[in-house]
Amino acid sequence: MFAVLRGTVWRFVSYTPPLRYTKFDAAFAIPALQENLNACSNLKRMERIVVKSPADGSVVGEVAVTPPEAIEAMIARAHAAYLHWREVPMHQRVEPLRRLKRLILQERHAIAELVAREQGKPRIEAMIVELFPPLDVSAFLMYDGVRLLQPRRVRSKNPFFSDRRSTYYFHPYGVWAVIAPWNYPFTIPMTQLMALTLAGNAALLKPSPLTPLTGAKVVELFERAGFPEGLVQVVQGGAPQGSALLANPTVRGVIFTGSVPIGRTVAEQAAKTNKKVILELGGKDPALVLADADLQHAAQGIAWASMVNAGQTCASVERVYVEQRVYEPFLEALRAELAKIRLGHPLHAETDMGPVVARFQRERVQRHIEDACARGGRIVLGGRIRADLGELYHEPTLIADATDAMLGMQEETFGPLVMVQPVASAEEAVRKANASAFGLTASIWTRDPRKAQRLAPMLECGSVSVNSHIVAYGDSYGVWGGVKDSGVGRTHGEFGLYELVQPQYVSEVYTGKPELWWYPYSARVHRITDWLMAFLASPSLKMGGATARRLLPELRYLTRHFTPLKMTGGLLRYLR
Ligand code: NAD
Repeated sequence: MFAVLRGTVWRFVSYTPPLRYTKFDAAFAIPALQENLNACSNLKRMERIVVKSPADGSVVGEVAVTPPEAIEAMIARAHAAYLHWREVPMHQRVEPLRRLKRLILQERHAIAELVAREQGKPRIEAMIVELFPPLDVSAFLMYDGVRLLQPRRVRSKNPFFSDRRSTYYFHPYGVWAVIAPWNYPFTIPMTQLMALTLAGNAALLKPSPLTPLTGAKVVELFERAGFPEGLVQVVQGGAPQGSALLANPTVRGVIFTGSVPIGRTVAEQAAKTNKKVILELGGKDPALVLADADLQHAAQGIAWASMVNAGQTCASVERVYVEQRVYEPFLEALRAELAKIRLGHPLHAETDMGPVVARFQRERVQRHIEDACARGGRIVLGGRIRADLGELYHEPTLIADATDAMLGMQEETFGPLVMVQPVASAEEAVRKANASAFGLTASIWTRDPRKAQRLAPMLECGSVSVNSHIVAYGDSYGVWGGVKDSGVGRTHGEFGLYELVQPQYVSEVYTGKPELWWYPYSARVHRITDWLMAFLASPSLKMGGATARRLLPELRYLTRHFTPLKMTGGLLRYLR
């Protein structure tokens, strides 16, 4: 009886989902019919997820679903690992990170192939967009991250604390939930987990049920790199497993990357136990093509930024506002660039764009195209499903003469569709770009740096690229995150790193002097405070002289509380 009980408990505690890959067979090219598994509430009861490739329907592998009731024990293990890990000096935390980076590079082919098969982006694209960011983030963390997380002196100018020495310490939160989407199944959780662990946290990754194999691979790499046992674990499943993580009070923070409605639910659930919440949500990125732009360059860049990952990128260019004067030549240049995109199987070397991940994605693209056509939009290129390649292959599609009311100009399309609208001026382009519920990133295409620098801060979004797009994600010094419905908080770079720690302020004084404001409150303290404030309220030479004359006899009294000379600089700052 005891042995059975122990076996059951052990199964939950030591839960690691098995990975089973099947060899890719190019001849096995049936269209995949994957549904959005998130919507599938029976993930609570389901025991396994069988992953079928969106590229050809072949079985890529399967994972065991984590029973929600097993999650508490996993969190307890992560917490135990965290208690040990937070004491590990920073220079030692870097060692497994270094090994992790090497492992990623050594296994680049296997990772790229897994992502290509499981999610559908071409293998070369997977290598570039899924593996470069972790490489750059690990370098950022090893150099700047270590420096930024060191205790730091506070350069306070407050005159009343001039006898003190103050320091910031950066403490980890503890256990985090990392809830990830399917569109960048490797780079998103990998970079988030790298930063979380360097900062001393533990984390449980819950990948999307559409890409559980890549999620399992991410965690496997952490384990092989030598991070402490239990520090980074994987929870497989969907909403029930996500909710179980969010309900647990030991989980102190969540980085959620996904859609706006689920992001709201996540924030609501997290609020019940006061967790730190970072939300990386959807986008409807605009590109502003100004009349002086290099049109060929802009067309080439926007073709990539709108179709990378079959348009399933939070920061895809979905709306293009073009100054009227160059509207037609730009359209033609963009059409020509999009027409060159080679749609095909993600494992073929000559493929630029693979399938969309599932039928629900394809249907949304079709809905936006039909709506645009019904409202006077003009299909310049594409518009159809390439059934000859498979059910999930959708042509890169360009719609001209878009209007504000079209669904494709309002809702996130998240597919291979780009819509173009003429505008009268750069200012109108900015107004239209900002007239959106989203605000993730934007781009400006111009040859004039002064114009770009004037317009960029006017755009309501988390980052702006000039003559390129999505730069902030690739540059680990760039800050990543959105405004409005696109999210809350930041990841990446200095600001992203500080989101993962709790700054602590420590103030020390050893003069033994009682603070001026301690009991007993006296008429004298009242007078001194009042003179000082009266002078600061309307500073003038005359008032300054009067205050100095009044304070002079109090100097001896004041030195019982402060070192007046040290205060002078700080007091002068109050004069401004
Ligand atoms: P999604 O919101 O459907 O799912 C995201 C994750 O949340 C999945 O792991 C899912 O299983 C989990 N989940 C679902 N219901 C949950 C619940 N009730 N509680 C807890 N977790 C739950 O998103 P998706 O379809 O996987 O990803 C696409 C979306 O993600 C797009 O909107 C895209 O713009 C956005 N995205 C944003 C960024 C960014 O950096 N801002 C990056 C990538 C993707």
